[in-house]
Amino acid sequence: MPASAASAARTILTRLHDVMASRSHAQQKLNTVVEVIGEGLDSEVCSIYLLREGMLELFATRGLAQEAVHVTRMAVGEGLVGTIAQNTEMLNLAEATAHPDFSYRPETGEEKFHSFAGVPIVRRERAVGVLCVQHADPRRYEEVEIEALQTVAMVLSELIANADLVDEEEALLSPAMTGPQRLPGLALVKGLAIGSAVFHQPRITIEHVMAEDRDAELSRVYLAFDKMREQIDRMASQAEFGVGGEHEEVLETYKMFAYDEGWSRRIIEAIDSGLTAEAAIERVQQRTRMRMRQIDDPLLADRMHDLEDLSNRLLRIVSGQMGTAATMGLKQDAILIARNLGPAELLEYDKRRLKGVVLEEGSLTAHVVIVARAMGIPVLGRVRSLRGAIRDGDLLLLDADGGHVTVRPLPAVVDAFEARFAKSKERQAAYAKLRDVEPFTRCGTRITVMMNAGLRDDMPGLALTGADGVGLFRTEFQFLVSATLPARERQTRLYRDVLDAAGDKPVVFRTVDIGGDKVLPYLRHNDGETEENPAMGWRALRVALERGGLLKVQARSLLEAAAGRTLNVMFPMVTEPWEFDAARDVFESQLAYLKTQKKLLPEAIRYGAMLEVPALAEQLDVLAPKLSFLSIGTNDLTQFLFAADRANPKLAERYDWLSPAILRFLKRVMQGVAGHDVDVTVCGEMGGRRLEALALLGIGIRRLSITPASVGPIKELIRKVDLEEIGTAMNGWLMTPPPSLRSALIDWAQQRGIDCD
Ligand code: PEP
Ligand code: MG
Repeated sequence: MPASAASAARTILTRLHDVMASRSHAQQKLNTVVEVIGEGLDSEVCSIYLLREGMLELFATRGLAQEAVHVTRMAVGEGLVGTIAQNTEMLNLAEATAHPDFSYRPETGEEKFHSFAGVPIVRRERAVGVLCVQHADPRRYEEVEIEALQTVAMVLSELIANADLVDEEEALLSPAMTGPQRLPGLALVKGLAIGSAVFHQPRITIEHVMAEDRDAELSRVYLAFDKMREQIDRMASQAEFGVGGEHEEVLETYKMFAYDEGWSRRIIEAIDSGLTAEAAIERVQQRTRMRMRQIDDPLLADRMHDLEDLSNRLLRIVSGQMGTAATMGLKQDAILIARNLGPAELLEYDKRRLKGVVLEEGSLTAHVVIVARAMGIPVLGRVRSLRGAIRDGDLLLLDADGGHVTVRPLPAVVDAFEARFAKSKERQAAYAKLRDVEPFTRCGTRITVMMNAGLRDDMPGLALTGADGVGLFRTEFQFLVSATLPARERQTRLYRDVLDAAGDKPVVFRTVDIGGDKVLPYLRHNDGETEENPAMGWRALRVALERGGLLKVQARSLLEAAAGRTLNVMFPMVTEPWEFDAARDVFESQLAYLKTQKKLLPEAIRYGAMLEVPALAEQLDVLAPKLSFLSIGTNDLTQFLFAADRANPKLAERYDWLSPAILRFLKRVMQGVAGHDVDVTVCGEMGGRRLEALALLGIGIRRLSITPASVGPIKELIRKVDLEEIGTAMNGWLMTPPPSLRSALIDWAQQRGIDCD
């Protein structure tokens, strides 16, 4: 086997070129092709299966019984070949029979072969066939061999199309394409939307796979790279939200990829192996996709999506085929469909017409999701087989709140959805009216309602909702969207911008809560081990105290950014009082240093702790005298109290925030700080739900920090509540809990005309 995939493929491609150019019949060509590939890869068996009448039929083979040709047929999804076609994913097995999908076909005489490798033959993103090799030795094929196989499969797809060997329409049209369908997914940005399906990437068909003139292909690809880099640079200089937003960081990462030498080198290598520029780009992209599937670090995988986005752009430039749906312009309200989307690509769409996004992949921390959130566009991710279920122009009802999208809905379903949509808009409008209304209870107590934030782009939310300030600024978001550890200047700039945007309203900065499930590629634990239980592992303050440099830089940035103003800072996951002391000392020593530099200092510093770990509640008497404020993070606190992973959807409904256990616990926390001058805020999701907020008011909580979308609904609730009344009711229920505190509260609220949906 030759040393590199390029030379292996080149040898085979040179011979295939002659086969393709010959005037022989298609079947004859296939017969020669399997010989050429088998020899080139030194494989006893090489077979080609093609899709005919919905079945994968053996069209040509070297090494299997010739009688099986046009006789052996498998359904898509059946056996190894069917599995490859169904998943459009390669298989590489040392022992084929050990695979659970193996299905034995006696007519082929394949029992003497052990190893098996197969790749899909893809046309317009669908498998139209499978190319596979088998060998008597039980060994896995090497990566270079698989790559050569994949390159050859691309060439085959051209041969097959030219010879009309498969009915492409048949391959592209699945039964799922007609009638209504509801596809589940993961809510990445909540919200509702209605619109017609627009595929972000119109299909690019690669007409020619094998190059006639290598140098010409090389210069085409060089030119395309220049053009793409120019586009990205231009985009970076005119990002939609002005200079300084998170997308600036996003685009920086993007730029890094656009200029990545490794990427262009791999494309050039593929051209060297005999492919056209288009085929080479596609080939490298396939390889990236394959790698992506193997990466289990979601953050790194997100960055790889950026690369895929660029790769598509390059392909469009080089092939001269029309741009994305963005360049053609949206003609009506649209819901964008894509496997994945780069942040820059999203920014190219007309915001007035783009109503929602549905992705086959995507994750909460993906750049595109962060940008979509800032644009207020709902996003549903992880929806499987989009291309197989949705056609361009289909009507879609996107319900990101409920985690699904309905395709080609029945008229009655559209009516119901529209009614819901209208109601939700009405409500939003009613809440918007409360923006300037102060949240006084019926009995006249002013409740503090702040919002949670984490990005510069969240800050306009303060004016839009009328929140009293930012009660939790999650500083780790900047770290999450950056490709490298954010430098001190960048941190300072962000914090200063946030304080400027907040004006007179307070902002509580939480020092980074990274680690655990938010592992950054550039920040790992020394021992490099993955943790079994990351939520209870090396995260938050534990990381910050161990990596002293990290906290020092952040302390300095915050102190400098807050020069001449009050700095509110709190530490996440404080478990014992000494941790709070140690973190505060880092700030104090940075402050002392800044004094020696005669720098302008903050007017005041208020230190706080987050109460998320139950153990801290037992030492509040020790900690309280040192605190200006305490913020209860109910998201983490409940997961620890109930031993129920907050990220596990199976447990989401299992434990109730309205359980007497948590409410009694919170009440004791309040008692623990009573008598000290400490503000207590609840900043977890719990406070943003009306019924839960009602219960919190009932146990004496007077400060909430919640997601911006909840500020309106919670203000409305507060104005209807009499604190003494709910306090008495809660006292009674917590003394002798009813079978369901939730039901008791619902009844109580209903009797008073308080809407708690
Ligand atoms: C919490 O744990 O409740 C909290 C507000 O912090 P986060 O959700 O960022 O962990
Ligand atoms: Mg937390």
